[in-house]
Amino acid sequence: MDSRREDWFGKDEYDAIENGCDVIIDEDIESVRRPSLYPRMVDFLNDELYDKMQEILKHSKRRPAFKYGETGAIIRADARMAFIPIDGTYDRVDLIGSELFNALVDENGHYCVGFGCIICVHNHPNNEWFSYSDLLRFLRYTSISAIAIVGNTHNVYILQKCKSATGRYYDYSTVITRIKSKRIELLKQKESLDKTEAEITKMVSDAVLNDATKYMLKLTHYKRRKKDE
Ligand SMILES: [Zn+2]
Repeated sequence: MDSRREDWFGKDEYDAIENGCDVIIDEDIESVRRPSLYPRMVDFLNDELYDKMQEILKHSKRRPAFKYGETGAIIRADARMAFIPIDGTYDRVDLIGSELFNALVDENGHYCVGFGCIICVHNHPNNEWFSYSDLLRFLRYTSISAIAIVGNTHNVYILQKCKSATGRYYDYSTVITRIKSKRIELLKQKESLDKTEAEITKMVSDAVLNDATKYMLKLTHYKRRKKDE
């Protein structure tokens, strides 16, 4: 092995690779493109999201623990504020359970930010599609208008809720009820939790991909470099 490469590939890199993370190089950060969110959103959000996707990768690369692991940020459209970073592990980051998100809740537990005021963004070290909890939380919280996933090396996924002509969002409560009952049904069949959640993720994803207009959703996806290049 090239000795320079060996020096560069320290224990952190090996641990990350062992845990399914792709190693982030500077080109991967530079290859993130400025998004173009749902047109009715204010244009500064495109800059903000662009900036945060790159910041997240830079931060994840520098982390002392769980290097290349999941890191997230919250962007508040109403207050023109962005919070970063929220550190997770190799395979999860809890933006909704984070102190930052909880700081947005009033004394009665209601979210004091309005409809669609939050954009959640985090990296997926293995470049995978939205997880079960990503999708569920995105649909459940009316404050979240968009969720963005920046893969460590190649995929970028942005899922947005679109407003109707009257300025309203789709009511996802029946979708959520269906997700919950499907979960109970699958668990009754003694399916494992992982398998159950994977099946529901597929169900929700199919609906999003095939019927995005009905659900008033917009998906943006592009690839940067190929995974094994
Ligand atoms: Zn995720």
